[in-house]
Amino acid sequence: MKEFKHHDAKTVEEASALLAEYRGKAAVIAGGSDILGVIKSDIIPNYPEALVNIKTIAGLDSVKVESGVLKIGALTTIEDIAENATIQGGWNVLSEAALSVAAALIRTMGTLGGNLNQSVRCWYYRYPNEMGGRFLCFRKGGALCYAVPGDNRYHSILGGQVCFAVQPGDTSFALSALNATIVTNKRSIPIDNYYVVLGNVLAQDEFVVEVQVPTPAAGTKQAYTKFRYRRAIDWAITSVASCITTSGGTVSDARITLGGVAPIPWRSTEAENVIKGQAITEALAVQAGAAAVKDAFALSDNAYKVQVAKTLVKRAILG
Ligand SMILES: Cc1cc2nc3c(=O)[nH]c(=O)nc-3n(C[C@H](O)[C@H](O)[C@H](O)COP(=O)(O)OP(=O)(O)OC[C@H]3O[C@@H](n4cnc5c(N)ncnc54)[C@H](O)[C@@H]3O)c2cc1C
Repeated sequence: MKEFKHHDAKTVEEASALLAEYRGKAAVIAGGSDILGVIKSDIIPNYPEALVNIKTIAGLDSVKVESGVLKIGALTTIEDIAENATIQGGWNVLSEAALSVAAALIRTMGTLGGNLNQSVRCWYYRYPNEMGGRFLCFRKGGALCYAVPGDNRYHSILGGQVCFAVQPGDTSFALSALNATIVTNKRSIPIDNYYVVLGNVLAQDEFVVEVQVPTPAAGTKQAYTKFRYRRAIDWAITSVASCITTSGGTVSDARITLGGVAPIPWRSTEAENVIKGQAITEALAVQAGAAAVKDAFALSDNAYKVQVAKTLVKRAILG
């Protein structure tokens, strides 16, 4: 590894000031389970001059409910989210998604903020510099997404534009279905507006301090379904997070988010609109699955994801 400075921030204000001082040449470190690998493999040309450790800020690891809003500190570990009885009781799509992350060791190191902001797992993006040089792909300021002419079996089928890597964080899909708000040191951002194709909307001196989640309406059924090759440790090939509210036998509200298929958590308003106002039947669920992939654009090796996504949406709706 090259040399970098390491600052232990004691407060949110101190971390903000440090990030501002480095003007984009510093990065936040929380659990370190992702960023240290990124740095070690030297995959990004703008190697950080400093890491600002936010784990030394007290109070950012709590889980509480205030006025019906679940508030989870950014330093809460993924394991604590998976095991928290309050979250399991009222926001189970999130605890299920958290439990599906990696294995206990990584869940115990990794934090919510880190899971939401981890780098993409694209093998061109992650290619280690010491193995013959890094791929200067579009995400790193180059002109090409190497996955398009290359091996793209794990890449996007929806919303890929300049980069076809998929957003990897399981908790982001669940929080999208739950209509969460990301609270930073500067502002509150609805999760629907947080992710963009090349990452997120955070400014250079901005970081996540808390995630707020409203209480789902009475009659809401939540589920997280994740398809992956290895059940032990694996990111989603495709996943579906769903919150479906029924009253009087018909769907009164729904949020359905697909993971592993797009560079952002992919909210399928198409699938939601198919079921809203309707009584759930198998035929309706099939129709919603088809609507979810209506705009899918498969690359050379990932057409299988279209069928997987269609089926998972159907299963999520049928419960
Ligand atoms: C073998 C393996 C398997 C895995 N499987 C899965 C999986 O199945 N599903 C899944 O979702 N993930 C998976 N992961 C990824 C893992 O969940 C992440 O490494 C972890 O969540 C990152 O959390 P961290 O606190 O260690 O982040 P760090 O490594 O500290 O940071 C990661 C990134 O997030 C940024 N960051 C951290 N905290 C904040 C914050 N508060 N605000 C803004 N930016 C921040 C950092 O600057 C960095 O860019 C896997 C990882 C490994 C190594």
